[in-house]
Amino acid sequence: MTSQFGTASSRKVIRQLEEAGYEAVFVGGSVRDYLLGKEASDIDIATSATPEEVKHVFTHTIDVGIAHGTVMVLMDGEPIEVTTYRTESTYSDHRRPDEVEFVRSLKDDLQRRDFTMNAIALTLTGELIDPFSGMIDLQNRKIRAVGKAADRFHEDALRMIRAIRFSSVLNFEIEDETLLAIQENAASIKHISVERIKVEMDKLWKGVNPAKALETIADTRLSEYLPLFPNDVQCLIACAPFETAKQGWAAMMLAGDFSVMNLAKAYKLSNREKAFLSDVLAAFNRRQFNQFTIDDYYQFHIEVLITAEQVWQTFHPNEHKISIEDMIRMQENLPIRSKEDLQIDGKDLMAWTSQRGGRWLGEWMDKIENMVLHRHCPNDAEKIKEWFLNEYKRQG
Ligand code: ATP
Ligand code: MG
Repeated sequence: MTSQFGTASSRKVIRQLEEAGYEAVFVGGSVRDYLLGKEASDIDIATSATPEEVKHVFTHTIDVGIAHGTVMVLMDGEPIEVTTYRTESTYSDHRRPDEVEFVRSLKDDLQRRDFTMNAIALTLTGELIDPFSGMIDLQNRKIRAVGKAADRFHEDALRMIRAIRFSSVLNFEIEDETLLAIQENAASIKHISVERIKVEMDKLWKGVNPAKALETIADTRLSEYLPLFPNDVQCLIACAPFETAKQGWAAMMLAGDFSVMNLAKAYKLSNREKAFLSDVLAAFNRRQFNQFTIDDYYQFHIEVLITAEQVWQTFHPNEHKISIEDMIRMQENLPIRSKEDLQIDGKDLMAWTSQRGGRWLGEWMDKIENMVLHRHCPNDAEKIKEWFLNEYKRQG
């Protein structure tokens, strides 16, 4: 194992904490991903120093979550999160500890973490501290709760969704006792805010095996307690995998026959996500009757069309299919992609007719746009002028 984990700045943060007499280690997802040979996500550092002590060691810090023990250290311009070792007391509401307590023992900190693979620490010299045998579980590709799974899910029900999203992202299996505990505690997911669920679902959609994760959501009956989930999960599974999280939400909407508004409300989707879902729904409805037309290729973003097409193909496995490559080519071959691509603009129309601006201008620009789009006239200023003056006189 090489000891060169982490960025130069993050290593410097650990070194300075150690020099000040504290313990400091790398922990969490970045250590897990590093051990898996994957590109590391955000680096997390845990330390025995209290937040006040951390702020004393470094000149530039920002309080980002001091109540939870997290201080952001700005090291050579790079933000590095440092979190004090902590334990969590009783959980009376299935989501938040009643209080967090800062402690000086790394093992106590690792013990409060969700899964064994996420409870491995790495020192600056490359030594692994792995009291819950996370390395073995990583090797066996198993997601296993730290300690008694049922207790851990009872404390924080979100961990159930986290287990399932890791099974999608890493394509790991959830270990039997952990899986059983999800089944038994499924109903408690209703205590968790949709914002936290959405963060995990977004990662689930983008994972390598969302189908397996969705199957687990159905098998454990978590599906019955999530805000909205399609009754026909197989229909959703058949749409997987997804390139982006938005595509996952769109597939969920269509598979569940939910309205954009209901799904957006249930999972607090952003305005951008809502706009994407509305477009996919509109494109999907057009696709019900026909192949996509020139106007569809012109109107919709390619990601919208691809999503609608993929779901449509899943619902109609025996019908004629168009390939994604052909769809991309169709859009790339359009003579224009927007009004801005036209070789003329409103000013030209005013000059040619010696008329002032007004509603007529927009109407004629729309006509010209439509004509060029459908190749009734090339996108050439002279040709457009000729056509326009002809028509204008004829109608005027
Ligand atoms: P990712 O690569 O997606 O960021 P991650 O494991 O780093 O995955 P984070 O949500 O960033 O996940 O959390 C960082 C670490 O904090 C986890 O690895 C885990 O040790 C701990 N953790 C996060 N959420 C919980 C939770 N709900 N219960 C217990 N421990 C948690
Ligand atoms: Mg992380």
